[in-house]
Amino acid sequence: MPHNTSTKILATIGPATADEKTLSRLIDAGADAFRFNFSHGTHAEHQARFEIVRKLSKQKNKHITVVADLQGPKLRIGTFENTSVNLKKGQSFTLDLDPSKGNEKRVCLPHPEIFKALKKGDTLLLNDGSISLKVVSKDSSHIQTKVLIGGTLSDHKGVNLPNISLDISALTQKDRQDLDFALSLGVDWISLSFVQRAQDVKDAKKIIGDKALIISKLEKPSAVAELDEIIALSDAIMVARGDLGVECPIETVPVLQKKIISACRARAKPVIVATQMLESMISAPSPTRAEVSDVATAVYDMADCVMLSAETAVGQYPVQAVEMMHKIIKEVEHDSRFIESTFANEMHLCCNASQGMTYAAKELSEVLKNVAAIVTFTTSGFTTFSMAKERPQMPIIAITPNAYVANRMGIVWGVKAAVDKEVFQSFERVEDIALKAVKSLGYGKKGDHIITTAGYPLGKKLKTNLLHTIEIK
Ligand code: PGA
Ligand code: MN
Repeated sequence: MPHNTSTKILATIGPATADEKTLSRLIDAGADAFRFNFSHGTHAEHQARFEIVRKLSKQKNKHITVVADLQGPKLRIGTFENTSVNLKKGQSFTLDLDPSKGNEKRVCLPHPEIFKALKKGDTLLLNDGSISLKVVSKDSSHIQTKVLIGGTLSDHKGVNLPNISLDISALTQKDRQDLDFALSLGVDWISLSFVQRAQDVKDAKKIIGDKALIISKLEKPSAVAELDEIIALSDAIMVARGDLGVECPIETVPVLQKKIISACRARAKPVIVATQMLESMISAPSPTRAEVSDVATAVYDMADCVMLSAETAVGQYPVQAVEMMHKIIKEVEHDSRFIESTFANEMHLCCNASQGMTYAAKELSEVLKNVAAIVTFTTSGFTTFSMAKERPQMPIIAITPNAYVANRMGIVWGVKAAVDKEVFQSFERVEDIALKAVKSLGYGKKGDHIITTAGYPLGKKLKTNLLHTIEIK
């Protein structure tokens, strides 16, 4: 039986879920896509996991999506003589470029760009924002600070500089190596961490080309400021609430989440909501009420996909976390309020003939009785994204001759994928191919309708100009 939910689940793979049996259980529990986090693990580990995922995908006849998440320019301090220090409110603390081990008075911050960009009065946040330092003075190799909020600071903790845009690219040396490796494996999506500006996405696209699609992670205020441009240049977006909640006031995160989701939908770009969704399930078999509510909110907000991080990467209950997420999604998607909100008219966002056709397919799906599925024939996948944007009530089936296109759909709302090499060979065969795909995915019965959209001439990119209905005999 197919999972009859539309909102997708992206689960991060880690030591807790690296073996075949657990990965298989995650897929059965409802995982549609896996995130390979290049902040952790070796290339050999990623490769082994990748091979298992592709093998399981074949066995289960389900196109499982693989996202390679690059670490990006995550800033970190160096190390301490005794692995950690305790900083007290009001004390002085210096950050410098001296690689020797730190102490109560100083630590290395091995990023010269920061020394250029910071000014007196700026704030540095350390350790996920729990420690706050104010810049008192600085030169090209030292930053003297006063501790505003103290705490324990240990080796390699992260540093966030809210509201400061650094002159560094979104791809570090390590990212370049990880990217080459991920592309050689054949991953479906690359996610870029700490995108600061639209130019970062352009730069990455130059390197990635059409070997994979790009997810830009929104976790910097400077990226939020260029939201529309970044969405337009990216293939998908992640609301990366972990770092976003450190870089921006935490109370603004839910508002930004809604704003980013609707901006993505307007441009038919898939959007993922990430981080701390079921955080307590890292060490408990059931989540808090607030976490259940948070997942539900992302579904009501109509994100394409919700993500699990440490819950599945290192948690004690990875399978239960996916099962829980799936149950919450199912519950919300059956709520009449949710269903009504998918009927909301998005016509004002429609700006070209292709989008008009997908919009019409959605309208048709609401007035025709018993529509089992909407089938989109696609070469690149983008017409399917455009159908998904309309959030129809029935599954969207992407039929494509390209396996790599089918493999991209695991983060896209409501889409199931089927590969058919003959799909664009003759117009006469389109009905048969649609019927076969719908059936093989487990949908439709006698008397149901299927709606299909396609571009004519067949197989041309980015053009939808045909709308057609088929009755299952
Ligand atoms: P991360 O990204 O887990 O790679 O930091 C997600 C986030 O920041 O929310
Ligand atoms: Mn992050």
